[in-house]
Amino acid sequence: MTIFEKIMAGQIPARIEFEDEHVIVIHDISPQAPVHLLVIPRKVIPTVNDIGGSDQELIGHLFSTASRVMRGLGHTDYRCVFNCGAGAQQTVFHLHLHVLAGRSFSWPPG
Ligand code: AMP
Repeated sequence: MTIFEKIMAGQIPARIEFEDEHVIVIHDISPQAPVHLLVIPRKVIPTVNDIGGSDQELIGHLFSTASRVMRGLGHTDYRCVFNCGAGAQQTVFHLHLHVLAGRSFSWPPG
């Protein structure tokens, strides 16, 4: 079980911002911006490489959830990131969308 599965199972505490039957949105334990949320599907999908054709609606739901939650928090400008694979600094192998806001961002990312 990954740490996110344990959070969804209630075995590990987390600061939950939103949840429904398909996703959970938590605050990152090590925030890289004043607002740093993780939008996590309940379905176990390890990486972006593992997204299948039947997951398209779920992936859309991750983004619509992100925008709805961020609008609710008063943010219209934010960065959405999927790290895919260890080479891209993915550390938890359960798909999650990082959503960061509340500071200025630079490009390209490091
Ligand atoms: P990634 O490196 O893209 O796989 O992102 C994993 C994220 O999960 C990191 O930003 C971690 O800070 C975050 N994280 C790890 N453990 C927890 C936890 N128990 N609660 C909330 N966020 C966590």
